Amino acid sequence: MFDYDGVIVDSFDVFSAAFVEACRALGLQGFTRQEDLLPVMEGNFYASMRARGVPDEQVAEVLRRLSGALTRARHWLKPFPLVPQILEELADVRTVVIVTSSPGAVVQDWLSGHDVRGVSEVAGAETARSKVEKIRALQERFPGQAVYWYVGDTTGDVREAREAGATPVGVSWGWHEPRALLEAGAERIAASPAELLTILAPELAHDFFGG
Ligand SMILES: [Mg+2]
Repeated sequence: MFDYDGVIVDSFDVFSAAFVEACRALGLQGFTRQEDLLPVMEGNFYASMRARGVPDEQVAEVLRRLSGALTRARHWLKPFPLVPQILEELADVRTVVIVTSSPGAVVQDWLSGHDVRGVSEVAGAETARSKVEKIRALQERFPGQAVYWYVGDTTGDVREAREAGATPVGVSWGWHEPRALLEAGAERIAASPAELLTILAPELAHDFFGG
């Protein structure tokens, strides 16, 4: 299972600018700088915003505006280098699912627009508000796996994956620092997409590196 923003797509600049703009438009206090998004991502997006006094209906409106901005910006949003290649390799031996708080249709559209292959499905914002719920549902649908990896870039991802009983792997190229991801409970940190492949599918790494 993969998170999308900050793991597959390099979206922080657009995402955080749209977040600040949505909060300004809705008159929400305390979110005036792009970095103000980072502490929000230390937990589930709804729970974090609720803890800062924002009711769920307004959070849903922020997400709706974010999704509009990310859809409009989809041609400028680039994948992190080598991530599409490892997703495609991985799909030969694993079922690859994106579990994200972004809307599934936005993610699917971006994947096809950038010719990113190998993702078998997207569990997006429309399926549930909590990643815990989505991860648990996937574990039930794919019983008997040795490890249920969840690849994420925020401490919120790591905590939700742990709570759901999955094994979180942090990536070093995302929104939160590797040390914070480890402190939140990440099992491993991947310093590069190639290293991520060796963690998720060690049997493929040999071929990938041409050894
Ligand atoms: Mg992320």
